[in-house]
Amino acid sequence: MRILLVEDNRTLSEWLARTLQKDRYVVECAYDGEDAYLRLRSEAYDLVILDLGLPGLSGQEVLRRLRARDNNVPVLILSASDSLAGRIEGLDSGADDYMSKPFEVAELEARIRVLLRRHANHKNPILRCGPLRYDSNSRQFHLGEDEQALALTPREHALLETLLMKLGQTVSKQALAEALFTLDDNVSPDAIEIYVHRVRKKLQGSGVAIITLRGLGYLLKANGP
Ligand code: CA
Repeated sequence: MRILLVEDNRTLSEWLARTLQKDRYVVECAYDGEDAYLRLRSEAYDLVILDLGLPGLSGQEVLRRLRARDNNVPVLILSASDSLAGRIEGLDSGADDYMSKPFEVAELEARIRVLLRRHANHKNPILRCGPLRYDSNSRQFHLGEDEQALALTPREHALLETLLMKLGQTVSKQALAEALFTLDDNVSPDAIEIYVHRVRKKLQGSGVAIITLRGLGYLLKANGP
């Protein structure tokens, strides 16, 4: 899951990015409204955390332009103002949720999980594919009858999570690359093959596998009926 964090306070941004990376999200930071909007025009994100008071374009304007382009990415507003009018304006301009600073990070993390589940149409926090089980609250994969925790690097985790969230669908190489890499990583979509190979090895013999559909993408599939 790739998150765009739009926050001009560098200290808050760095701290929040580190926290979310520990939660195994791929986090990209923008520090002003212009940069945020440019990234949102060219890249696909699973969620946007948007501060309202930004240099250049305001958060409201970024959100307004985003929705005017029919971009439906979940947006969580993070605002310094806790006024009722501010909350209503934020929600009315197309945000999915609103939190005011200072906030409890555990609550922010829970709200992020809710928005991601809602957007993917998974209300159940536990996702399964054959012997593979994923708890989207603890963000931990378990495999096999003894439910061993599966050790994955952040990018391997992002790959498997994306495939599981889109179970039954083919996920293109481009879509996977967008889930794994930030714009700042500057890698070719072909780099995805390395991570597919690594995750395949970790799933080997388990009864769940990543299938390649040439020219189309990848699909997570359990063996058997
Ligand atoms: Ca600000």
